[in-house]
Amino acid sequence: MSKWHDFPDAQIAARPDAPAFEDNGGARWTYGELDAAINALAEKLVETGVQPCDRVLILAENCCAAVAALFACSRLGACAIPFNARQTAGEVQRVIDHARPAAVLFTSAASADALAHADRLGAHEIEGAFGRLHLAIPFPSEPNPELDDVAVMLFTTGTTGTPKGVMLTHENVLFAGRLSAELRGMTQADVIYGVLPITHVFGLASVVTAATSAGAPVRLEARFSAARTYDALNSGITLFSAVPQMHALLMQYTKEQGYAHLPHNTLRYVSSGAAPLDPAWKRKAEAFYGVALQNGYGMTESTAGICASRNEIGDPDISVGPPLPEVEVRIDETVSGGGRGVGEIMTKGPHVMKGYYRNPEATKEALQDGWLRTGDLGHFDDRGHLHIAGRCKELIIHGGFNVYPPEVEAALNDHPKVIQTAVIGRMVDGDEKVIAFVQAAPGDEPSPEELGAFAAERLAGYKRPSQIIVATELPAAPTGKILKHKLLEYFAVEAR
Ligand code: ATP
Ligand code: MG
Repeated sequence: MSKWHDFPDAQIAARPDAPAFEDNGGARWTYGELDAAINALAEKLVETGVQPCDRVLILAENCCAAVAALFACSRLGACAIPFNARQTAGEVQRVIDHARPAAVLFTSAASADALAHADRLGAHEIEGAFGRLHLAIPFPSEPNPELDDVAVMLFTTGTTGTPKGVMLTHENVLFAGRLSAELRGMTQADVIYGVLPITHVFGLASVVTAATSAGAPVRLEARFSAARTYDALNSGITLFSAVPQMHALLMQYTKEQGYAHLPHNTLRYVSSGAAPLDPAWKRKAEAFYGVALQNGYGMTESTAGICASRNEIGDPDISVGPPLPEVEVRIDETVSGGGRGVGEIMTKGPHVMKGYYRNPEATKEALQDGWLRTGDLGHFDDRGHLHIAGRCKELIIHGGFNVYPPEVEAALNDHPKVIQTAVIGRMVDGDEKVIAFVQAAPGDEPSPEELGAFAAERLAGYKRPSQIIVATELPAAPTGKILKHKLLEYFAVEAR
């Protein structure tokens, strides 16, 4: 049976001197050095008492040592749980209680947040070919045979509520990594910009796994900053994937700086994924990048990719394109979506998760006869391209009409002063009202009245927000994705 670490191992055997990963902390590893780091870390974990089918929590921001930790777990047969170090103490504790890891690794040299978690949890420093990390042992070894074929456990973003632990098998991650590399036509001549957190599925598949499958070198970025991304994109990067919020913030930055394009542009493939891609931002981004901005659709439960667009630059199509090879997609129209072929998106194939960890009820609801219920609404157009209408849970029924939040968000995002918008429904006197939260640059905020008039020109009456709230920041996950369930808290605070 193939294992996740087969990808780097093939590169290590064939090209030990080829560049593999580098990070902000100054580490620049060849595949040979990656091998030494993985071995040294695997040894430490064994000394600690870690056994196959144990969980190893990796509290990380992107760095070389985090990559070594992932593959060390794979070589030991332990289940890696990469978790973003920017999460709060409470969120980290919830994962520890749920997963009962036999070891916790902290990328303390690359992340002040990881170091703070390490101090709080009484971890000690370890050093070796992997660099410097901290290590804690919250629970004794407790192998769980259910994890026999599981490479990683990843937590969902928590956009709609509490994050769930998704079990992804070795087969899942190998398949997703290979697909992601093929989709991008990735080769050893590419240079990948690794700014997507590798603790989330998009970064794990498109950065760590795809890169090691193709042998393409990666420049890891610990944390997104528009200024650093601009500099990186001017220094030889060929492949760049990001969430829409990162593209939007980068475009906002380049507008402020008066940069119309990249002076040293080597980009070959740029993509967006993990949240709806806005048509206005797509247009601006393509003009800036000089290549098409492809839209990929996936979720933690599907090990990233389900569909991806393959458009030429300037194509106004903002669908997520056709299903990826070997991936089946169908629409369940029995789930109310407003007719016209709209329904819940279902998917089947080697990308579908094993299940949620220690949560059989949620697993039973999500997996039916091998089909994964995505919880998203969508339809296929006559070209066979999938259009995402929004999440089932977030569909707003206002005055008896269906309102899809992404459509309202796109209309407001067209306003030149708007960075991004999040639309939610709120029950008031038995009807769901459309509420828009708009993010604008500090000191350059449009008024709610101006935005209301702007929306009125673009949206039918029932789709227009009954309230527009302008803010300079919106609650976001460490990936940049907006946490919509937190927006409702605004009203709880306001009522006090
Ligand atoms: P939770 O499941 O905890 O509420 P989440 O669904 O945001 O959080 P992820 O697995 O990170 O957690 O995100 C997957 C979801 O993101 C998809 O179900 C879909 O709603 C949305 N999504 C992903 N890619 C796209 C895209 N290209 N366009 C629109 N929506 C997308
Ligand atoms: Mg989800």
